[in-house]
Amino acid sequence: MSFEIAKQAIDYLLDEKRNFQEDGVIWDFIGGEPFLEIDLIEKICNYAKLEMYRRNHKWFNNYRFNFSTNGLNYHESRIQKFIEENHSHLSIGITIDGTKLKHNLNRIYRNGKGSYDDVVKNIPLWQKQFPKEGTKVTISSDDIPYIKESVLHLYDLGIHEIHINCVFEDVWKEGDDKNFEKQLVELADEIIDNDLYKDFSCSFYSEDIGKPLKDNGNWCGAGMMLAVDASGFFYPCLRFAAYSLRSKKPIVIGNVKDGIDQNKLRPFLTLNRTTQSRQECIDCEVAGGCAWCQGENYDAADTNTIYQRSVAICKMHKARVRANNYFWNKLYRKLELQGTRDDFEKNRRKVKPIVC
Ligand code: SF4
Repeated sequence: MSFEIAKQAIDYLLDEKRNFQEDGVIWDFIGGEPFLEIDLIEKICNYAKLEMYRRNHKWFNNYRFNFSTNGLNYHESRIQKFIEENHSHLSIGITIDGTKLKHNLNRIYRNGKGSYDDVVKNIPLWQKQFPKEGTKVTISSDDIPYIKESVLHLYDLGIHEIHINCVFEDVWKEGDDKNFEKQLVELADEIIDNDLYKDFSCSFYSEDIGKPLKDNGNWCGAGMMLAVDASGFFYPCLRFAAYSLRSKKPIVIGNVKDGIDQNKLRPFLTLNRTTQSRQECIDCEVAGGCAWCQGENYDAADTNTIYQRSVAICKMHKARVRANNYFWNKLYRKLELQGTRDDFEKNRRKVKPIVC
């Protein structure tokens, strides 16, 4: 993205107060490796800050810059200078997939060498600067055998919060749900038997999931946020850009020059659970926490619709719910026996799932 495109996008967002009435803003840099372009990013962030201030915009008092990085150049002086200057308005997540073996399966340099060693040496600095930040792990079929050891390894590295979720694409093989449940039950045993639940959390286990749903909201924020690509086109979420889609055409809802075309945005504003779910999902006894991705719904749908929910994740969610019930059952029995349940409920960490 050129600075000019970023500038036009910022100007549009700040000018259009009528369409963007939120109390705060998150400027999220995602896609590729943002810290490779730290000079450009610094220029963009400085412009956003200056313009929010100059226009006396309410977001000046409530803004955040968000980065997902592979962490390889995190220690470099230019990155560290940027962090120092913006620390109180920054969220930075370093992506590390788990053990060295697991991480190096996918995260390799051009020459095929794994990147694990170079990421791991930056974890202590990152955790010192952002002790509350967790890491995000995404599970696909081939990753299932590594779940338990990977989460425990991330705890060993000092990362306290693990945000983890299954991909939404239809990648699941026969028996994956059983193996997934087994991994989650074994991980639950490790967390509870070794008292790790006191200091660490993993988003797979949540008391809020696995119940019938009354709420009719949309799971995903597509249409409620704005994604801008390098050419200045607007999307309801980056999953509707051409580079994110397998089989459908991109859905462009505007651009930095002409702004948002409200007619193109309108279908996204009517999305909720019932407008896109089949009856089985409406009636489902364990629907709570069963997520969907609007971009994947569109990509996997039989026609060019955003109103057909993909349920490729169904058996994995049900397996997660069974393991989750096991986790809380075992933990509360232990705490009741110790007489420490009240203390735990008062002081524990809660992790919200991040699903994109
Ligand atoms: S996808 Fe499956 S688990 Fe999820 S709500 Fe629908 S029926 Fe329930």
